[in-house]
Amino acid sequence: MVKTRFAPSPTGFLHVGGARTALYSYLFAQQAKSGGGQGEGGRFVLRIEDTDQVRSTAESAAGILQDMLWLGMTWDEGPVVGAEKNDYFQSMRLDIYDKHLQELLAKGLAYEAYESPAQLAAMRQVAEKAKKPFRYRRDMAGRQLVPQEGVKPVVRFAMPYKDITVHDLILGDVTVKGEEHDDIVIRKSDGFPTYHFAVVIDDHYMGITHVLRAQEHLMNTFKHLGLYGALGWEAPLHGHLPLVFNMDNTKMSKREKAKAVRADIQKTGVKDFAELAAKAGVEVKVVQEFIAKKSDAVEIAVKLAAVTGTRLPEIDVQDFRRSGYLPEALLNFVALVGWSPGGDREIMSKQEMLELFSLEGIQKTPGRFDRKKLAWMNGEYIRKASIERLVEAVASFNAVTDYPLKTASAEVVRELLGMYQERMVTLAEMAENSRFFFEEPRMDPKAVEKHVKGGNGMELLRASLEILKGVKEWTKLGLQGAHDRILELGVESGGKRGAAAQPIRVAVSGGAVTPPLLETLVLLGREKAIGRMERMLG
Ligand code: GLU
Repeated sequence: MVKTRFAPSPTGFLHVGGARTALYSYLFAQQAKSGGGQGEGGRFVLRIEDTDQVRSTAESAAGILQDMLWLGMTWDEGPVVGAEKNDYFQSMRLDIYDKHLQELLAKGLAYEAYESPAQLAAMRQVAEKAKKPFRYRRDMAGRQLVPQEGVKPVVRFAMPYKDITVHDLILGDVTVKGEEHDDIVIRKSDGFPTYHFAVVIDDHYMGITHVLRAQEHLMNTFKHLGLYGALGWEAPLHGHLPLVFNMDNTKMSKREKAKAVRADIQKTGVKDFAELAAKAGVEVKVVQEFIAKKSDAVEIAVKLAAVTGTRLPEIDVQDFRRSGYLPEALLNFVALVGWSPGGDREIMSKQEMLELFSLEGIQKTPGRFDRKKLAWMNGEYIRKASIERLVEAVASFNAVTDYPLKTASAEVVRELLGMYQERMVTLAEMAENSRFFFEEPRMDPKAVEKHVKGGNGMELLRASLEILKGVKEWTKLGLQGAHDRILELGVESGGKRGAAAQPIRVAVSGGAVTPPLLETLVLLGREKAIGRMERMLG
């Protein structure tokens, strides 16, 4: 039996790196389920790690579940969407953690520590001055040995003084020496267990056999192995996944949103942030701290970006959803950030990934998040998708965005897809470029100048308008004759075939680029098409 889990902390949105961790865990379990891999069946668990009371929110947890479902990663065990009480939230499992905490205390394998935060900081400073890493150990000098008024104790785990080796499924053996451990906090002063404690207990009780998680957690695994030993449990196998890097070798982090906004604000040279703060609806102090890099809060970045017009980089799964990526394309792409099936195989359905996935194919070094490749892949997926699939994808895109496309009937969406499928890279491109079908076009002055005001644009437009006015039935068939006539106009006036199409395009859409003219006119409808041409002619 193989049992994997994905265990996000609900302190923000689901990062694409997290989605990749989830995917590898999901694939590994599914593979076993279908008889591949280790055989004997497989299960994938989703667990919400919300023991950080200050930073965890219910909205974040809900968002993570939604993103998982959008990506098509369903769990065999985990939160029930919409349920009031959920056992797969750590905050609902405090009794279990407490039971084992008492057991460790009783056995002398854990102990209360009484330092105040200020005392701890001072101890840390002493170590820093001596250029030694700070390691809290029960036999260290300078410990606060008795409880103090006003200081709630924490409980620390007495890490064994022996070397611990992680037999990592991806990195191989990694050892940390006995003297390098420290006695980690397992219960915070607020009475909640720490991540380290809860994760071990849950992985044990949930029967997890393989823990696949980000490489950032490698150093935590030694602590966890120490705890498994103390609790007398067999530890699951661990595999630590490569970091996700941008193409410039920086780590792909949530901070990039803050960075992008900060750069735009600095470009303006504005030093007094009162106006910006007021427009964004945040306190001036908050903006100042943000500019001074004291905070990288995504919520603040989003509010400020709405004022500065900054285009925030896509980092979280929902950013990609809003930008119009298809979940199957995103999933395929993230699978390849750090894993390769061998050869130069790139486009793979989930089923194919299931067949090809293996831990041996996971690399040790950071994976590269190549946005150009993602865009290319998304375009490929869009072109290969059936219209029915795309209609569904547009509905799910519309649910999280606010383009006028939202108001379109399924029928109209289908028509638009027919026109844009071959040419778009993201659904957002279609949503943006098709705005003119739903609202008054924003005129591009350069296009007006070049195609309407310049040359014989006005004459061609006038002549085309007369032809279109004569159309009896405003359908593809009914407009065909007029369309052919309009194309001839260009040739007759000494220009190219199609020269007369440009002024019409500009008049009806605001710019010189639209889908084929005939389809555009049909979908736009007689009233809008003729009305906009008349207005252009003044
Ligand atoms: N809650 C941890 C995180 O989101 C999970 C780490 C783990 O998989 O053990 O980073």
